[in-house]
Amino acid sequence: MDEPILDCLIVGGGPAGLTAAIYLARFHLDIMVVDGGKSRAAWIPCTRNLSGFPDGIKGAELLQRMRDQACKYGAKIETEFVTKLEHDAKEGLFTATWGSGCASARTVLLATGVTNRRPPMDETLHDEALARGLVRYCPICDGYEVTDKRVGVIGSDSHGVAEALFIRSFTADVTLIAPDKALNLNADDQAKLKGAGIGCVDGPAQAVAISNECIVVDTAEGHYAFDSIYPALGSDTHTQLAEMAGANLSPEGCIAVDRHMRTNVQGLYSAGDVVIGLDQISHAMGQGGVAATTIRNDLCAEQPRWREPVQEMEQAGSGS
Ligand SMILES: Cc1cc2nc3c(=O)[nH]c(=O)nc-3n(C[C@H](O)[C@H](O)[C@H](O)COP(=O)(O)OP(=O)(O)OC[C@H]3O[C@@H](n4cnc5c(N)ncnc54)[C@H](O)[C@@H]3O)c2cc1C
Repeated sequence: MDEPILDCLIVGGGPAGLTAAIYLARFHLDIMVVDGGKSRAAWIPCTRNLSGFPDGIKGAELLQRMRDQACKYGAKIETEFVTKLEHDAKEGLFTATWGSGCASARTVLLATGVTNRRPPMDETLHDEALARGLVRYCPICDGYEVTDKRVGVIGSDSHGVAEALFIRSFTADVTLIAPDKALNLNADDQAKLKGAGIGCVDGPAQAVAISNECIVVDTAEGHYAFDSIYPALGSDTHTQLAEMAGANLSPEGCIAVDRHMRTNVQGLYSAGDVVIGLDQISHAMGQGGVAATTIRNDLCAEQPRWREPVQEMEQAGSGS
């Protein structure tokens, strides 16, 4: 491998990884982002809770702006999926491998995110419903948009109950629907739902169609039409590379980090949804900024990165 050793390889080009890329490139470090192109932010039809965007912004546009900003300062971005991450503790180097190549780096930031589990429904229907706000995944993000609307929550356990109760403060019309079989809730959860006036419907349930700007859900108890449904089926956290490199996971199955975003493996850092947190753009960006500054400081503690003095001739040229 003749390529120079990178100061930092960032795996994941969502809000966390791209924020870190902007910081690190502006710290004059040699970095690369390798991104599988499946950022959750790309699914957002219009985010309205991100500060600084009073009229909202499409998730895909936000990502493009962040990529442009990172590239402007010298970051390289590859669209690839990293399949292997090896750590040579003796040399203090990481090697990452993907389909068409590989790279070595002194540090690695894993910003690999999570994937929401989808409800059983046709994929094309799902994507159209998501784009139209008929399927939503994040009541913290967009509960405001369902204010006083009819909302179905597809979930069964205490996670589904918690999501339904959260949404109840946006609308009085909330129904909890079991995804696969009859709802089987403990007495405490049943009492909470009853107290909040949340309806319960047995599954199996399947969103089957869009009709009159509503999403129609077929259940064991018949058809229901909602202005929006929220699947509350959990998510899968992308921790595989962290585990390959020897990083510990938290009890919740996320990559475990300290408050500076360091994992237990020296030189390996993590930020964003893959670390336990709010699963929000602002939080992912914040963690990306913290991680980048820690990486910079750790690299400089190993070996100072002093700038060379500007040559006299260059100085004369730029001064005229
Ligand atoms: C429908 C929807 C609406 C949302 N609305 C909002 C909102 O309005 N406001 C808000 O704040 N948040 C919202 N969110 C949440 C927000 O999108 C996430 O919190 C945010 O994208 C997390 O950023 P991240 O960088 O941690 O992960 P992601 O944005 O998910 O990016 C992770 C990236 O890592 C890549 N990756 C993973 N593994 C590998 C690998 N091995 N090799 C290479 N690349 C890899 C993935 O392909 C992906 O591109 C929403 C989420 C969804 C799904």
